[in-house]
Amino acid sequence: MAGTDMRISVIGTGYLGAVHAACLADIGHDVLGVDVDAAKIEALAAGQAPFYEPGLSDVLSRAVGSGRLRLSIDPAQAAEFADVHFICVGTPQQPGSQAADLTYVHAAIDGLARHLRRPTLVVGKSTVPVGTAAALARRLAELAPAGEGVELAWNPEFLREGYAVADTLTPDRLVVGARSDAADEALREVYAPMLAAGVPYIRTDLATAELVKVAANAFLATKISFINAVADVCDAAGADVVRLAEAMGHDARIGRRFLGAGVGFGGGCLPKDIRAFLARARELGVADSLAFLAEVDTINTGRRRRVVELARELVGGSLHGRNVAVLGAAFKPDSDDVRDSPALAVAAAVQARGANVRVHDPAAIDNARAVFPELDYTTDVAKACERADVVLHLTEWREYRDLEPESLAKVVAHARIVDGRNVLSLERWEAANWTVAALGRGRRQG
Ligand code: NAD
Repeated sequence: MAGTDMRISVIGTGYLGAVHAACLADIGHDVLGVDVDAAKIEALAAGQAPFYEPGLSDVLSRAVGSGRLRLSIDPAQAAEFADVHFICVGTPQQPGSQAADLTYVHAAIDGLARHLRRPTLVVGKSTVPVGTAAALARRLAELAPAGEGVELAWNPEFLREGYAVADTLTPDRLVVGARSDAADEALREVYAPMLAAGVPYIRTDLATAELVKVAANAFLATKISFINAVADVCDAAGADVVRLAEAMGHDARIGRRFLGAGVGFGGGCLPKDIRAFLARARELGVADSLAFLAEVDTINTGRRRRVVELARELVGGSLHGRNVAVLGAAFKPDSDDVRDSPALAVAAAVQARGANVRVHDPAAIDNARAVFPELDYTTDVAKACERADVVLHLTEWREYRDLEPESLAKVVAHARIVDGRNVLSLERWEAANWTVAALGRGRRQG
């Protein structure tokens, strides 16, 4: 893609920022990535992705190799270098509260602002509660030596881990909350190659831009919890939620995506974003309007307990002393992200009931071990399943779908599996003499 050679900084080079920085350099901009994590910056500067994301290494090594992407731990350098600054730091759930923790956003804004001596555009990409941008705009004007010359815009990010590079280079849409035409024009220039390729660009006010992101995630979470609630009815009625979702999905108004019943959603976005959305609605006095999101959350966390229950039933009533193989640690396939991972939560819950748990994942073992060091890990599926009394399939990595049930049956102690993602062929596994349990498939749990 032809670039427009702007000088851009990306502050916070995690799952979002590293991809954003590398892709902006790839389309021809001069980019400086800044993070407080020196090890991450060192890896990126060597052209190495500090996490697993398909395709990122190629873009990154090209960007670093061309000299268009440089890295630093110094926000003063970013202020000196760039005319547009993207804020991509984390906004996790606050400990002991449902609200978003804005500590990192405030630190990034404050750290940058005091060095901004000329008119500049600061662009928020992190997911934040509505109203944050307006407050940050005031703070920037107060703290920056350039005062009102520093403008803030909001450009929420919709990338999906596992598809982050493609989603960044060819997004479904670009949403920009901009107060001035100058800010709008600068962002159109940043994204010129995407706009030339026909990507829809929607300009809004700051509050709408912030809300588009959380509303979109709340909708997706609701769709998943909806089908999971229906899965319970399917179990009670002897119906099959997978066939049901397929049939519903043909309705263009509904669509099949995000109608995968199973162990539910997790990750660093959906769970904390719906909680923060509800917390913010409470502050705004409209909690009743979003009360259903609490139910969406409850249905979702209930799925994890349901999988533990299915495992317990399959092994005959008690998990104590049983060998349990867990396939998957990442919250989704093609990622090494274990934040609020349903698979790991189930693994830990099963272990807490006295089982011997061995977890397999193709990419997320190191991250998983950092969170749950007490679990046993392996990168060999057969080893994970050795002498298992039950296998739990919890992250739908492609390689699990391709497993040969006949060969796996030879290594386990008992051929029993819970398909927590409803993607395995029940017929195929049952034909190989496995007892298969799943969520919403009409009580097929043996
Ligand atoms: P992350 O934790 O992977 O990355 C955040 C990075 O910010 C870390 O590398 C951290 O060291 C750095 N950081 C913290 N304070 C800093 C500071 N003061 N200066 C510079 N760097 C600092 O998080 P993420 O997944 O990349 O998410 C970032 C934001 O993007 C969140 O608001 C998230 O909700 C949103 N988002 C994430 C995704 C996704 O798929 N991960 C998608 C869309 C939106």
